[in-house]
Amino acid sequence: MAFINVRATVECDGCACHMIIELDAAEERPAHFSWSDLVEEAVRGGIALVSIRGMANASGMTSVQDGKCLCPDCTSQADEEAADDEDVGDDE
Ligand SMILES: [Zn+2]
Repeated sequence: MAFINVRATVECDGCACHMIIELDAAEERPAHFSWSDLVEEAVRGGIALVSIRGMANASGMTSVQDGKCLCPDCTSQADEEAADDEDVGDDE
């Protein structure tokens, strides 16, 4: 048996939407990785998003920030907030 991929449904830690993430079964991974490690790596990689439940078109980069799995919208929001924090730091 050769399975090509595995799909996981992940709840966004920001807005609680349900992201469908595709895990590449062919990719090499450390033997000690658990399923949740694999899913987190896929979310962190940013490009494994297949769709978001209830949305016709979902695209963009997912991420893991401060230990939270984030959908593309929440990732953009977190990135903007991080950029704002940097701006404040530059003024001082
Ligand atoms: Zn979200």
